[in-house]
Amino acid sequence: MNPAATLSERIRLAQARIVTAALRIGRSPTEVTLVAVTKTLPASVVAEAYQLGLTVFGENRVQEGAAKRAELNLAGTRWELIGHLQTNKVAAALASFERIQSVDSLRLAQAISERAASLGRDVAVLLEVNVAGEASKSGFSPDEIIAAAPRIVALPRLRVEGLMTVAPIVEHAEDVRPIFAQLRAVRDRLRSEAPSGLDGGWAELSMGMSDDFEVAVEEGATLVRLGRVLFGERPAADARYTARHIDVGQ
Ligand SMILES: *Cc1c(COP(=O)(O)O)cnc(C)c1O
Repeated sequence: MNPAATLSERIRLAQARIVTAALRIGRSPTEVTLVAVTKTLPASVVAEAYQLGLTVFGENRVQEGAAKRAELNLAGTRWELIGHLQTNKVAAALASFERIQSVDSLRLAQAISERAASLGRDVAVLLEVNVAGEASKSGFSPDEIIAAAPRIVALPRLRVEGLMTVAPIVEHAEDVRPIFAQLRAVRDRLRSEAPSGLDGGWAELSMGMSDDFEVAVEEGATLVRLGRVLFGERPAADARYTARHIDVGQ
């Protein structure tokens, strides 16, 4: 991120980079949605991003996202939960998020399904895959997801729309290309082994963050989750996440 640039310039630049990456491999740029990750940022910054045209927001904590959404009450926005969800917060999550990207266990999928059924509505989810098997991250392993998917897609009122992954922190974005390619391969397999929806489903691949989103787009991402490249380094409140970045000397 260029700290001297305005938020407007950073948004335009990130969007241009998405378009360029998509065109480079012959994809339509309209297949890729920019999810602005606003965790730890004040509502005023979300309002500014909205004024500049962003409408899809990602938050990793239920209460924080719900509070910002309620405070701002912006028309035509979508909020996506991208952080680990405890089963006791499912009801609150469904009240404030259009989609849960971070479904990381069968038990959580069941809890969401039960709550959705009691509300009498469908709930859109992505299943989180820990492709690299990092101990610090939640998510199904590729083998686990292959095994669990038939049961998950059969749960009432759960609309399984695809997969999500958080790639390892690496020095060069190219190093995570195999991770993204593997997520896509898992998705392609699930499409035939555990169809979800009329067209086989599994359309969404949420992968790519500030340091690696162009590689993710080249590997088929339909959702890129961008925080720092738009908004700069997050405040220290997000110490756990920041620490991961310091660890590798970035
Ligand atoms: C914080 C976060 C992001 C955004 O990360 P940046 O590196 O700031 O772009 C994306 N996905 C998840 C799950 C996150 O927690």
